[in-house]
Amino acid sequence: MSARIIDGKGIAQEIRAELAKKVAEMTTQGNQPGLAVVLVGDDPASAVYVRQKRRACEEIGIRSVIHRLPADISQQELLSLVEECNQDKSIHGILVQLPLPDGLNEEEVIEAISPAKDVDGFHPINVGRLQIGKGGSIPCTPAGVVELVRRTGTPIEGKHVVVVGRSNIVGKPAATLFLQENATVTICHSRTKDVAAECRRADILVAAVGRPRLVKKDWIKPGAIVIDVGINRVDGKLVGDVDFDEVKDVAGAITPVPGGVGPMTIAMLMKATVEAALRA
Ligand code: NAD
Repeated sequence: MSARIIDGKGIAQEIRAELAKKVAEMTTQGNQPGLAVVLVGDDPASAVYVRQKRRACEEIGIRSVIHRLPADISQQELLSLVEECNQDKSIHGILVQLPLPDGLNEEEVIEAISPAKDVDGFHPINVGRLQIGKGGSIPCTPAGVVELVRRTGTPIEGKHVVVVGRSNIVGKPAATLFLQENATVTICHSRTKDVAAECRRADILVAAVGRPRLVKKDWIKPGAIVIDVGINRVDGKLVGDVDFDEVKDVAGAITPVPGGVGPMTIAMLMKATVEAALRA
């Protein structure tokens, strides 16, 4: 059996098209969504992500303002810029591209963003709201993971979801979101005794580790849905945390890397910006 490939790129494109329609209506009514993106320093990967976000905004009709700042900017100057964006009524979402260069305090910067404009969902207030199921902004990557599973048409309720990885930006919020969908959730991490055995119990497996091709064929329950969040560069090629070539023979459905979760992250960021503008 060969798994169905979950076309994240195609699904993200559908979501972008739906958003473009919505944004056109909002713009006619004088409420064009606006996103401020702050890029500090010259990390090449961050520059690529910011370019992709700007392009997505252009395509959907969201106004984007990119602030490019030198790596040696002071914490105070960065906080002042965030505050300016907080006050700007034409800006509904603020995204500070992480990681920040050494010497800058990321936590303080995230906490300076108004929770209403925190489209990344990293502000402690939004993290808390997510935990108690009170909405707010949800981190874009886990939101994309759940959306991909929903669009396979398989009900999540009652399923056993195993999330490998417990980071604040992917693993933990993904686990919380699946819990809210009434799944039974197991979280694995680097100290888990037998990760393979835990994974074998998964109806839905989410790999968010950052280890190329860690998840093997014999970790998979036949027919399981496998969502690969990992982005690893091996010999100049992007590979996921799942050994795609062998796992696809056992799984029921699987995301490719690239073309799976990655494009969904940007689509969900666009969605979060539109929702922030609607709330404002
Ligand atoms: P992280 O390094 O913050 O967290 C990794 C987690 O994996 C940790 O909780 C750690 O305990 C766990 N871990 C490490 N080794 C393990 C092992 N051998 N077995 C089980 N668990 C183990 O990483 P992150 O920020 O959550 O990102 C994870 C991956 O997802 C990376 O490859 C990253 O590039 C990718 N990512 C992709 C997107 C996207 O848009 N597709 C977004 C964010 C992150």
